[in-house]
Amino acid sequence: MKYNTKNYDYLIVGAGPFGSVFAYEAAKRGKRSLVIDKRLHIGGNMFTHKEHGINVHDYGAHIFHTNDKRIWNYMNQFTEFMSYTNQVLANYKGEFYNLPFNMNTFYQMWGVKTPKEAKDKIFEQKNAAEIPKNPKNLEEQAIALIGTDIYKKLIKGYTEKQWGRKATELPAFIIRRLPVRYTFDNNYFDDRYQGIPIDGYTQIFNKMLHSELIDVQVGVDFFDDREIYLEEFPRIIYTGMIDQFFDYKFGELEYRSIRFESQLFESDNMQGNAVVNYTDSETPFTRVMEWRHFDRKAEGDYTVLTKEYPQKWDKTKEAYYPINDKKNSEIFKKYRREADKYNQVIFGGRLGNYQYYDMDQVFNAALKAIDKEFSRE
Ligand code: UDP
Repeated sequence: MKYNTKNYDYLIVGAGPFGSVFAYEAAKRGKRSLVIDKRLHIGGNMFTHKEHGINVHDYGAHIFHTNDKRIWNYMNQFTEFMSYTNQVLANYKGEFYNLPFNMNTFYQMWGVKTPKEAKDKIFEQKNAAEIPKNPKNLEEQAIALIGTDIYKKLIKGYTEKQWGRKATELPAFIIRRLPVRYTFDNNYFDDRYQGIPIDGYTQIFNKMLHSELIDVQVGVDFFDDREIYLEEFPRIIYTGMIDQFFDYKFGELEYRSIRFESQLFESDNMQGNAVVNYTDSETPFTRVMEWRHFDRKAEGDYTVLTKEYPQKWDKTKEAYYPINDKKNSEIFKKYRREADKYNQVIFGGRLGNYQYYDMDQVFNAALKAIDKEFSRE
């Protein structure tokens, strides 16, 4: 035995939320896991670190939000949450607009003051654009929801930078992530529960993985020794890219990557908001986060700002977003069918399931996988 030296019940590939919940829950049931991650840290893309007393999210802003009480209570076992309401500001060529699309946005865009005036304006623009009843791509869906003016200033440029393709070539569901409301309410999310862990996200993972029954190895790539792992471990939880697991035999799935550029400033407030989106097509980054504003009790004379540059993905870069268009969805279906036949392995997480999951959905999926796993016994 090269790796399964302690008679582990599970090999868990990836120390992100899916893998960590699985390891934690398996340990509670007396099962032993080896968790490996090719990165040098645990927590996956939820990883945060402290800089001058500020929690910096290394892989972009993570605001925990859910409608599911079970998931909210589950998270609260590991951390206390600071109440936080995400309110995103859009900067379009120097003009400011509130997001998500709400009465403040409509007032700023058109000067309309009542929900009826706003609805009439959107209806008029939607009709003029002759949008079909069932919008078939992101552009049609956006115009159907909020009209042409907002589409042009706040959606088209941002979306095409973010995804590296035309809004007419993207699935409609992506824009339905954002609420549209006819109240003066700038809350970016509709969920009942929302917050930021008081000491950042990494400590949640430290708590989950701290057990005599769990060993963690970082900087270890499953693919360096995949045959041996497959031979030695009866049960594997795999949260990496599903196409890579199957050696790309049905073709390569596409992903979108991001490059982050952070800077420290000697100031206590540079942009006055946690997130500012740059929605024009020329600015090369999509958004700028100022981390201290995620923490209402932030103190000190420093601030860290991070710019988010979307970039083309290749195998040397981190895969952040699956691109769930028609072509990729067809390829994914083939992998999914193959995965269903493969009893030794459970596929989980954004990359294992090729889904644009939010954090709460990953936690939920991991708990479901655990329920299923332990109802087998
Ligand atoms: N979006 C946009 N303008 C914005 C913010 C978002 O058009 O200012 C669109 C864009 O297509 C994006 C999608 O809404 O991909 C979902 O945005 P969200 O903030 O949920 O993306 P995430 O935080 O997951 O990157």
